[in-house]
Amino acid sequence: MFRRLLEALRTHAYAVDFVVFPLLAVALIALDCRSLAWCGWAASGVLLFTFAEYWVHRTALHGLFFHSQHERHHTHPAEYVTFPLWFTPALFAGFYLIMPVPIFAGFIVGYVWFLVWHHVLHHVDLTRWPRFVQRYALWHLRHHREDDCNFGITIPVWDVVFRTYRR
Ligand SMILES: [Zn+2]
Ligand SMILES: [Zn+2]
Repeated sequence: MFRRLLEALRTHAYAVDFVVFPLLAVALIALDCRSLAWCGWAASGVLLFTFAEYWVHRTALHGLFFHSQHERHHTHPAEYVTFPLWFTPALFAGFYLIMPVPIFAGFIVGYVWFLVWHHVLHHVDLTRWPRFVQRYALWHLRHHREDDCNFGITIPVWDVVFRTYRR
């Protein structure tokens, strides 16, 4: 029974994050957000996520860890390539231990933004969407062809800062 549950979770790991993390973000905001300052700290958590996204993508996925999995994503972008089941919960549990709640909540909002946008990028036909959305999408799709640029997925800020931005 337990093994079967684990197997189901593993095969649905891609979808699990789309349920767990938005719920977690909403729960944290509903339970803990009591002031404008809280929202400010949460916004800095979103920014922190975009920075982590940039560096994890650039250094870990393109070099140190899960490189073959990430290569697979580059060559087969529509496939549901996932990390091992333990990885994301362990990573976020670690962040929870070291981050104040509002920053952690913002960090999760950033992750949800990444999840949804990256899914749209590779699974939704954007040809009829506004041009600015298409331009936003092309920026990551260029990274799939040229893997030395455009490491950010949510925002291009860190690519500009660290000079890896390519139009
Ligand atoms: Zn991608
Ligand atoms: Zn990549």
